[in-house]
Amino acid sequence: MRIDLHCHSTASDGTDTPAELVRGAATAGLDVVALTDHDTTRGHAEAIAALPEGLTLVTGAELSCRIDGVSMHMLAYLFDPEEPALLAERELVRDDRVPRARGMVARLNELGVPVTWEQVARIAGDGSVGRPHVATALVELGVVPTVSDAFTPDWLGDGGRVWIPKHETDPFEAIRLVKAAGGVTVFAHPAASKRGRTVPESVIAELAAAGLDGIEVDHMDHDADTRARLRGLARDLGLLVTGSSDYHGSRKTCALGEYTTDPEVYGEITRRATGAFPVPGTGGPEALRA
Ligand SMILES: [Zn+2]
Ligand SMILES: [Zn+2]
Repeated sequence: MRIDLHCHSTASDGTDTPAELVRGAATAGLDVVALTDHDTTRGHAEAIAALPEGLTLVTGAELSCRIDGVSMHMLAYLFDPEEPALLAERELVRDDRVPRARGMVARLNELGVPVTWEQVARIAGDGSVGRPHVATALVELGVVPTVSDAFTPDWLGDGGRVWIPKHETDPFEAIRLVKAAGGVTVFAHPAASKRGRTVPESVIAELAAAGLDGIEVDHMDHDADTRARLRGLARDLGLLVTGSSDYHGSRKTCALGEYTTDPEVYGEITRRATGAFPVPGTGGPEALRA
């Protein structure tokens, strides 16, 4: 059983539509795939409609959080998408995205980079606009060779020349909100140091005490030593350990199913969740259009 619990679609900053994503997951030989777009559940309906037979969808989102000035991502699974308090928090984060991206365009213009809002909006398409879309514009303009090269102090990296902080949720609040909506929380790529400062282990211990369910250990941004350390930490704190691709289509290099989650851990996540159930693919008419 192959399980990938962290993927993005065009509903946020992935390049595959939700339908393309689930078809791709089936082609990649996955049995279970989670759709975890940034701060939105907008792609769920399309993914469900296109779900191939034999593939199960775990609904979720990746919530933008911040603690002590450090940005972090919290994966939330199988919560009730209509639960009002969690929905309001997601909207608060999302509504901030357009003014923030416009602000980054203005700063780039001040630095002499001829990027326009129209260009960034075109790249974002229907997705909720974010830094990867601005970064793609910088690649199009030849300012940087790749999207990753834009996430540096010179450009869009945290604290960088063009960086603008966004509204992010306190992770303790995120855990409380997700639990109240019947969901399960997993701290995404907790030691991805190339993205900027990371949260210390003491804080992960506090999050565990506050009800955090697990940490994502097998992720492309963690090397072998980091994974071993995180596995030990999870054991000490009684946390579940997940692995996933953090697939973004062609925007990042990791393939669907490149990292996976143990079926026993997946079983435990589904047992703990009460807000939504995994959706088994029936291979309906949308799915057959592949
Ligand atoms: Zn993330
Ligand atoms: Zn992600």
